Amino acid sequence: MKKFAGSLLVGCMVFLLMELNLFACGFDEYREINYNKEMVQAMNAVFNARNKIGLEKGDERLLALTNAGYGTVNGKTTEAFLDIVSNVTACTMGTKSLLTVHTPFTEPLWCALYRKDNGKLIFTKWSEKGFTQQQIDISPKKIFKSQDWKKAASGIIGSKTLFSVVTISHCWAADVSWSLLKTAEFHNHICPGLNTGFIIGEYLQKKYPLRKGEKYMFIGAPPGCLLDALQIIFDTTAGKSAAFSKAVSKQKIEKYSQDLWFKDAPIPPLAVIVMRVNKKSNSCEGVVLGVDWKSIFADAGQNYQDFAPSGGKANPVYFISRAKLSVKMASINMAKKLTYVKEIKKFFGQAALAQKLAMEGTDPYAVIQSLQ
Ligand SMILES: [Zn+2]
Repeated sequence: MKKFAGSLLVGCMVFLLMELNLFACGFDEYREINYNKEMVQAMNAVFNARNKIGLEKGDERLLALTNAGYGTVNGKTTEAFLDIVSNVTACTMGTKSLLTVHTPFTEPLWCALYRKDNGKLIFTKWSEKGFTQQQIDISPKKIFKSQDWKKAASGIIGSKTLFSVVTISHCWAADVSWSLLKTAEFHNHICPGLNTGFIIGEYLQKKYPLRKGEKYMFIGAPPGCLLDALQIIFDTTAGKSAAFSKAVSKQKIEKYSQDLWFKDAPIPPLAVIVMRVNKKSNSCEGVVLGVDWKSIFADAGQNYQDFAPSGGKANPVYFISRAKLSVKMASINMAKKLTYVKEIKKFFGQAALAQKLAMEGTDPYAVIQSLQ
């Protein structure tokens, strides 16, 4: 207790602690807290953000997103911030209102407080000047206008994190599943590709569940965001040789996508090669899965040409179109979404076939086509 009080040093922190309910809850239930000076500043910053957003602690309209635990402040780790933001806002993982978004460890600590009733977002980020804040209206009617997106992205949040925060917050407001949010935490945004990975995850659990002694092996050819969703759902990491990525030329994508292909398709309809490998019984049962993007764009009422606007990523339409489609996809019911998954070809072989397909220099689709 003495050490705790001493570690804070600042008298005004007593007020903050009372706000945090630490005294009221009784210290016996808590481990000793020893915040460094940056974490005390972070506590002040998140208090300030909560005040600006205009909601009381515990309000169900509030979501907290942060890269705490990954991002750093002055080279120091930031796990303490997870408790701080929870204590200040009452947002917790258990109530699906605190999400930890993966970023490189080198990225400075950031936290976004979002209120779903009016789209107000307070973004707080560490910089050389200490913690700075940006207020953004991310309600769809505002942020999906090019000039508003551009203005917001030019602030401390930047284009990449704006896309993360908008897509995850909007999907959270649409009450998507915890499982999808878990994949989004790792992938650090919700894009159309991550959505398809999540759908394919459901498809495999229903249609191709693992049987005794089997392991999944995935080949992303071409590589795509969907592999990250599958990695979280099935623990099929590259490090465990359960996921491989291979570049495929546009001509070959067109050739192997069969009738799923359409002119100027903005996302390759060729999704992933899935294998259930059993080393003991020496078998490999596989299926090439595709995605019916034409139907997805039609059902979402969205124009796929918007995915390739003039100017590319410098054009806000590039991000806005992806964000809009992502939230729509996340909101469609799963039974409907499963109809977007198409089986292009099934194949069978010995366990070594999986390694052969993953081997460098091999065109896996050519090998699969040659199998009977
Ligand atoms: Zn993505």
